[in-house]
Amino acid sequence: MTTKQFKAESKRLLDLMVNSIYTHKEIFLRELISNASDAIDKIYYKALTDDSLSFEKDNYFIKIDIDKDERTLKISDAGIGMTKEALEDNLGVIAKSGSFAFKKENEIKDGHDIIGQFGVGFYSAFMVADNVTVISKALGSDEAYKWESDGIEGYTIEPCEKDSVGTVIILKLKENTEDENFDEYLEEYRLKSIVKKYSDFVRYPIKMDITERKLKEGSEDEYEDYVEEQIVNSMVPIWKKNKRELTKEDYENFYAEKHYGFDKPIKYIHTSADGAVSYNAILFIPEKTPYDFYTKEYKKGLELYSNGVMIMETCEDLLPDYFNFVKGIVDSEDLSLNISREILQHDRQLKLIAKNIKTKIKNELNKLLKNDREKYEEFYKSFGRQLKYGIYSGYGSNKDDLQDLLMFYSSKEKKMVTLDEYTSRMPEEQKYIYYAAGDSIDRIEKSPQTELVLDKGYEILYFTDDVDEFAIRMLMNYKEKEFKSVSSGDLGIEAENENDSSATDEENKDLFGKMKDILGDKIKVVKASKRLKKHPVCLSNEGELSIEMEKILSAMPD
Ligand code: ADP
Ligand code: MG
Repeated sequence: MTTKQFKAESKRLLDLMVNSIYTHKEIFLRELISNASDAIDKIYYKALTDDSLSFEKDNYFIKIDIDKDERTLKISDAGIGMTKEALEDNLGVIAKSGSFAFKKENEIKDGHDIIGQFGVGFYSAFMVADNVTVISKALGSDEAYKWESDGIEGYTIEPCEKDSVGTVIILKLKENTEDENFDEYLEEYRLKSIVKKYSDFVRYPIKMDITERKLKEGSEDEYEDYVEEQIVNSMVPIWKKNKRELTKEDYENFYAEKHYGFDKPIKYIHTSADGAVSYNAILFIPEKTPYDFYTKEYKKGLELYSNGVMIMETCEDLLPDYFNFVKGIVDSEDLSLNISREILQHDRQLKLIAKNIKTKIKNELNKLLKNDREKYEEFYKSFGRQLKYGIYSGYGSNKDDLQDLLMFYSSKEKKMVTLDEYTSRMPEEQKYIYYAAGDSIDRIEKSPQTELVLDKGYEILYFTDDVDEFAIRMLMNYKEKEFKSVSSGDLGIEAENENDSSATDEENKDLFGKMKDILGDKIKVVKASKRLKKHPVCLSNEGELSIEMEKILSAMPD
């Protein structure tokens, strides 16, 4: 038997690639712009080692031109360009990346700037175009060449005229079909928004001719259109700017621009790391709960960038559920991207980043609690519940991260207090951290169960959120002090009103028996109590579940 080699059917491969690896057609622009940016970077890198070359950053830009009549879109750059061979090699062979080779040859290890690596991005142009022409003149060459392809039938290369070094890519857009609109890629505002979305932080200016309407000179009501060349990207991302040069307003503007919320962030965190993994991040803690926070529509996550290019709009893995309210972006050079650059290949780096970010958020919240109590309480009003859910759903595994961030209403202080504040003023003989659960502070205050503990002068934490008691049960204890519900049968307190204790169970056997008959299954047993002073009767629980928890659980659908 002979073994035959597989032959790559490049036509089919191209088709497959173009139509299956990318989920959004619009990313073709991201890919072409990334290539243009890489091409300019390559001149920059060459100039570092070649004295005959100089790199004036101002001379380098990327230009997008629309021709509605011809239905063409043109992307030009003054980058390093391609020789005839480079055109053959890089555009004639799918999955061949000249940029990857360049990084290797030039030993650019921290080559965080150069984006290309897989050698497929270019072909994404065929998602929107049925003909692509590339005109290029390489640095140091006198000749220019034209590469042209209809995608399916291969390509042609021939000499052509081009004055300056660089590359022009011309896409002849596909005709609209019933389900698909390609005309949109001829609209200025649409292209501008795609650039903003994916390529806002490409380091070189991306220019477009933008049509604006303005009052005719000397006229009060007549308008005229005029065309102005504009730079449509912001180039330097705020997270790469020097913190010292940025103001609170800059961060707040960014928050608004990104539509993170209609409120102002209560806190922003600008952080970066260099080490096992390097990244820059800007994180925001919103002031108010987003309107859809408790709905299925709400998506947690941070925006993820790789080398300034947007990869994922909401990367869930970057945030633990209990910090799902945090907004912001992470930019890292260390991510292993998959071929479409839409998803991540290995998540080791991502996990590391996520871990760092979690710690950072935790520390910043602790700082806020210490330094700006009022703000922290505002935050806690909006998102405290999420922290408690976090403890509950993590079965207490994140105890160390979250317990110091918790606050409850205190019977003593008549305001929110932390567990640390509670335990640090506990009298020595007090065994437990007491809490009372109920619908409202008012109702808890009036409940007979609190009587003995309050009488003793002990502080009680009032739990008014359904999740409170569940979360506390997961914590089990705080600084080695166990939590104890005031409705518990054994409070660990010696009752002082011994005088009343004459009412023994034995003497009242008949009465208690009758009461039990009437109440039936609603209660387990009627007993004389030593804990009451002002109230004739109270409910208490014997087992693990408190009365309030039982109420909540029985109200839940099966
Ligand atoms: P990648 O960018 O991942 O390398 P692409 O398919 O996007 O893959 O591009 C393939 C190669 O073609 C690039 O690596 C680069 O060598 C070359 N190339 C593409 N566009 C340009 C351009 N505008 N200027 C110079 N070279 C380019
Ligand atoms: Mg590319």
